[in-house]
Order: sequence, then C-alpha cells, then structure tokens
Amino acid sequence: MSDNCIFCKIASGQIPSNKVYEDEHVIAFHDIHPVARVHFLIVPKKHVESLLTATPDDQAMLGQLLALAPKLAREQGLGEGFRTMINTGAKGGQSVFHLHLHVFGGGGKAETAMAAVMQ
Ligand code: 5GP
Ligand code: ZN
Repeated sequence: MSDNCIFCKIASGQIPSNKVYEDEHVIAFHDIHPVARVHFLIVPKKHVESLLTATPDDQAMLGQLLALAPKLAREQGLGEGFRTMINTGAKGGQSVFHLHLHVFGGGGKAETAMAAVMQ
C-alpha cells in the first residue's frame, strides 16, 4: 500500500470501483474513462510503480495479469478479440503510477485511433 495511490485505495476498498474480478493478488475494474465499449484494468494489489520498477520477484504476478486478460475479456463480451496495453513511465503515457494492464475492445474511439496509427 502506497499513500496517495489511487489504485492502492481502490484495491483496499477505500475508493469504490466498478469491479469485474478480485482475488488475493489482483483486482480488475472498469476504467472510469473508457476508450472503447468495454475497457477495464487488471491491477496487482501489490504497489509496483510500473514495468520499469518490477523485479524478478514480480514474474508470477505479471503472468497472472496476462493470463487473466482473456478470461475476463470473454466474460465482458470480448470473446472474439480485444486489445491489451501497459503504459510505462510518463514518457510511455502512464498517468497512474501503479502498474496496470488495460484490456479494451468492442468498438470505440481508441480502436479507431489505433487502427489509423498502425496503417
Ligand atoms: P494510464 O494512463 O496510467 O495507463 O491509465 C490510467 C487509467 O486509469 C486511465 O485510463 C484512467 O481513466 C483510469 N483511472 C484514473 N483514475 C481512476 C479511478 O479513480 N477509477 C477508475 N476506475 N479508473 C481510473
Ligand atoms: Zn498503488
């Protein structure tokens, strides 16, 4: 738990969220500003700032985030496909400095924008 970290506060229940999953190590909840019809975040309960500060001890947790993505995506109606994203560091577009995996899809402005960038 890190003071003044919004995702630590969500993980501990101090701040409410629209939860899609929770276990001992991980919580997943809908993004407050969705960029697609479905957009949720998979977040370790342990405060790790970003991929840049993750250590070999975090390997199991990192694997759990990715392994959960298809399971939760299917449950949220994205069984035909979805996007995943981890922003790392301010220069990598990260705005909340508690590691998280974005999962999104189902149509929406981010998908349109990303498709344009990738062409
Ligand atoms: P980042 O830019 O760090 O990769 O993503 C942070 C994400 O967290 C953003 O998409 C933002 O909308 C979301 N977010 C920020 N604060 C809150 C909050 O209090 N609740 C929820 N559910 N999402 C949040
Ligand atoms: Zn935190």
